[in-house]
Amino acid sequence: MASKRKRASIDFSAETIHKEINDANEVLHKINNFKTSLEIRKIREALTMLKGKAHFDVASVLALMFGFSTIMWILFCIRHVPKVFCRYKNTRLRAIFTIINYLCPESSLSETALREIVSILEEFVPNIPLTGTYTEDFENALNTITKREELNVAGFLAPPVDNCLECGGHLSAPNPPSKCILYSTNGPKGLTKLLLRCASCKISYGYSMKTGDDKVSRYYSPEIMAKNSVLEITNVSYVEKSLYRWQTSLM
Ligand SMILES: [Zn+2]
Repeated sequence: MASKRKRASIDFSAETIHKEINDANEVLHKINNFKTSLEIRKIREALTMLKGKAHFDVASVLALMFGFSTIMWILFCIRHVPKVFCRYKNTRLRAIFTIINYLCPESSLSETALREIVSILEEFVPNIPLTGTYTEDFENALNTITKREELNVAGFLAPPVDNCLECGGHLSAPNPPSKCILYSTNGPKGLTKLLLRCASCKISYGYSMKTGDDKVSRYYSPEIMAKNSVLEITNVSYVEKSLYRWQTSLM
């Protein structure tokens, strides 16, 4: 007598197979990221234990784990995106993540792993000298990313102060970063800038000026202004000091 049991139907359509592969890849990606996070955590623990007791090259250890170019580009990013941008949500990490994803797509680092690597490098390799050899590649990458992303990563302008000049308190970033233009010797380019504010003194800190509760804006002292690499023309346009000097020399 013939069996009347129905065979389980299996969907062999291209869409289903594609979905299965994607799901499997996603699981694999999660496992790899988890493994990477564990490895980084172990490295940090070991480094913390050995701090001050043994000297070795932390950047090289990370380069062996994640690849030389990945670590080198992360170091470039650390220098390029001012630390103060982490005061508005995770703007700084987002910017570094976007740049690293573009420059090292093969590294497949998760944001969590990248945050750990940045933090280890900043703690254990604070003054690594970077050669200028790759600067042009880095600049080109920043310009390409800026054309396709919402966040302008070509350049960042942050106030030249970390804490409130009046009370020494922490400055927060109440508003998202905004766009502005820098006129440089290579032509105009878009930048991202951030304003800081002291909640107790109600003072806002911009790139060149601070604005009090009376709405009057005042320039910082010459000592503080000397830290700035560009000059403010308006609150959305800036000029490189070298371009300004060249222009005035023509008059
Ligand atoms: Zn204050």
